[in-house]
Amino acid sequence: MDESSEKIYVQVAMALPVSGTFTYRVTGDFIGKAGVGKRVLVPFSGRRVTGYILRIIPPKDIKGLKDIIDISDPYPLFPPNMVEFFEWLSDYYHYPIGLIIKTALPTGLNVNVPDGTQMPSRGWLDRVGLLKAVFITVKKGATIDRSLLDSKRVPRNEPEFLEMIIKRKEVSLREVKEAFSNGTYLVDKWVKKGLLRKSLRPVVRDIAGETLFISPFPPPLNPKQKEVLDKITVKLRENSFFTYLLHGVTGSGKTEVYYHAVRVAKELGRQSIIMVPEIALTVSLASLLKARFRGRVAVLHSGLSMGERYDQWMKIVKGEVDVVIGARSALFAPLSRPGLIIVDEEHDLSYKQEEKFRYQARDAAIVRAKLTNALVVLGSGTPSIQSCQNAVSGKYGLLTMPERILKREAPDITIIDMTRFEGSSPTVGDSIISPPLREAIGENLANGKQTILFLNRRGFGALYLCRFCGEAIRCPNCEVSLTYHKYGNNLLCHYCGFRIHPPDKCPSCDKQKLKAYGFGTERVEETLREVFPEARVERMDRDTMRYKGKVQQVLRRFSQHETDILVGTQMVTKGHDFPNVTLVGVISADLSLNCPDFRAGEITFHLLSQVAGRTGRGESPGRVIIQTFNPSHYTITAAKDHDYQRFFSLETGLRRQLNYPPFSSLAILRFLGNSKTRTKKIAQHMGVRIGNISGKVKKGKKDIEVLGPVEAPMAKLKGKYRQQILIKSRSSKALNLLLKEVEKGSVRVLSSSGVRLIIDVDPYQMM
Ligand code: ADP
Ligand code: ZN
Repeated sequence: MDESSEKIYVQVAMALPVSGTFTYRVTGDFIGKAGVGKRVLVPFSGRRVTGYILRIIPPKDIKGLKDIIDISDPYPLFPPNMVEFFEWLSDYYHYPIGLIIKTALPTGLNVNVPDGTQMPSRGWLDRVGLLKAVFITVKKGATIDRSLLDSKRVPRNEPEFLEMIIKRKEVSLREVKEAFSNGTYLVDKWVKKGLLRKSLRPVVRDIAGETLFISPFPPPLNPKQKEVLDKITVKLRENSFFTYLLHGVTGSGKTEVYYHAVRVAKELGRQSIIMVPEIALTVSLASLLKARFRGRVAVLHSGLSMGERYDQWMKIVKGEVDVVIGARSALFAPLSRPGLIIVDEEHDLSYKQEEKFRYQARDAAIVRAKLTNALVVLGSGTPSIQSCQNAVSGKYGLLTMPERILKREAPDITIIDMTRFEGSSPTVGDSIISPPLREAIGENLANGKQTILFLNRRGFGALYLCRFCGEAIRCPNCEVSLTYHKYGNNLLCHYCGFRIHPPDKCPSCDKQKLKAYGFGTERVEETLREVFPEARVERMDRDTMRYKGKVQQVLRRFSQHETDILVGTQMVTKGHDFPNVTLVGVISADLSLNCPDFRAGEITFHLLSQVAGRTGRGESPGRVIIQTFNPSHYTITAAKDHDYQRFFSLETGLRRQLNYPPFSSLAILRFLGNSKTRTKKIAQHMGVRIGNISGKVKKGKKDIEVLGPVEAPMAKLKGKYRQQILIKSRSSKALNLLLKEVEKGSVRVLSSSGVRLIIDVDPYQMM
């Protein structure tokens, strides 16, 4: 018998930082077991290493190849349709393909969990699962027999109990039991008497621990939702790649449209992925879909325990789900027939991963869809400049839902020019909470309403500065100035966590002239307590939210109006719905506006729109007050007027002029090293080479610009000195070619230099 027919070859991606793939021989029993998407154990540089099979190569004689050692999986861990996707990611982001696959797979797999082992659960899925709770309602047509209430044998709290149920019409048993120690008895008694009834209803607990109803029955769509769904349906039926941008204001009912789109895809035999920017947002969405798709739903995100992630992953691989919901990492859901990918809040920065494998999940979603003839729906109330430009240029289709379901008015936004309250102001704290904002808070308090105050910086002071020599105390690891935290009397580095107690004397000039300047959320909280001693104030930022469950507690107290004013960082701006909040104050719009980043305006606009969305969710209209030193900046004025179009046209005008995305492609090359001079030398050396390569790659004259190397704005971070080179290119293809050459050429230069190169394609962090 011919021996050569007894073997096949496999193309393997190594779970190692090596570029390219490798071919191995498969013989004997392994032939029948080998398959795309399975892990193999192979010999590599004298070690046994895990790899992933990307392709089976038909039998032919290839000399000098090693044999695989083992095949680890009975089932493939990803379908063949993902191989091309992984290859694209590796090529575009210049990151080793095996490490991309390793990132994508649930962690449980990488530690080689034996079959059937139960791993501890951290409990996320319990909350995501379809919970049911007992609710007590008043039976239709039932009336109370008053005489019963007067009887002496009736428990004393019975009238109060009945009043609560009748007034609220529907109360959960849990709540009844919390309010009345004899709650179960009372409920059973009145159920027997035929006044009340018990029913089991699906519920979900939101991040504040509130129980929300989820209706398993979708409401009828309004005309605008229908119109949008019809367009989506047409494209889904075409079975070919397309991208829609759904520009729908907050509260316009996008979620119901998503549900129907997933339903239509399912009817067409295709599966869906829905990505949301935050893990917390998966909870209610997952419950809604679980209720409506009878559990054929999986959840994927980094908040799951290892065991949960593994289970969800295998459920998807085995084809047991129709829709996957998750944060960024849901992009890698191993679906065999994806037909629809929805990216909700597509403008959100969290879609960009900022460590190791630096990918943009929204952008990558479009590529995944292209490779599988799927439809993409990018949803947002304030789309990213990039997506909107793509809609304007006709690359994407545009869908709009400009009206809220309940025709509530958009909040009224006032801008406070803070230059008026600088310097010789007689009242301490005016520069933190200006008189108009103070007045509005006071009014709100008097009216029994709640207030949210937002500031994007935690801590007490922004700087700890010597008034004599002007030096700020800096982090020895990061060279950024330390932030003063009154609580614990610390100077803290917000990048690496370094902390010291403030010294008595200035380390530079030895004078006792050190003082905290600027302010953060801690200072805002203190000022509020001084100005409104009667108000109940709480702060929510990374300092106060260290303990598990603390966020939920603070949000619960706020939602039950046990707190009047909530002060916080970004954390207070996302997703929460508090009907009694009628005032939102932005303490300073300047922090994000003044970032050394070409997206500073865009980020600020999104932030202000999002913060403004936190008010006026109830009956009374909301009010927003924005404090800034740049009151006439177009970003601020456009946000004030809720004028996305104006912001978009001014912002794109600037970007076009400066040749920034979306009118060019960017990459940042970062050189990190322990030695400042060495890092600089290597960066300069590479800079020269890049100049040469770009000369070869570019076709036109202004095709590629190489800027730098320069010291990064964050010159030292976590002990590493940082140099960077910014590359701008009119063509992303040319940029890709250039980076490939750079990558190749860098291996020798960098080896044993102690300097590391990080390539960040389409960067969001410019510092
Ligand atoms: P968005 O995601 O666009 O901000 P949501 O999907 O959260 O908006 O919808 C806002 C509210 O309107 C939700 O409470 C939702 O249940 C409700 N809603 C959505 N569509 C309808 C509809 N067709 N009829 C009645 N209520 C709806
Ligand atoms: Zn530091």
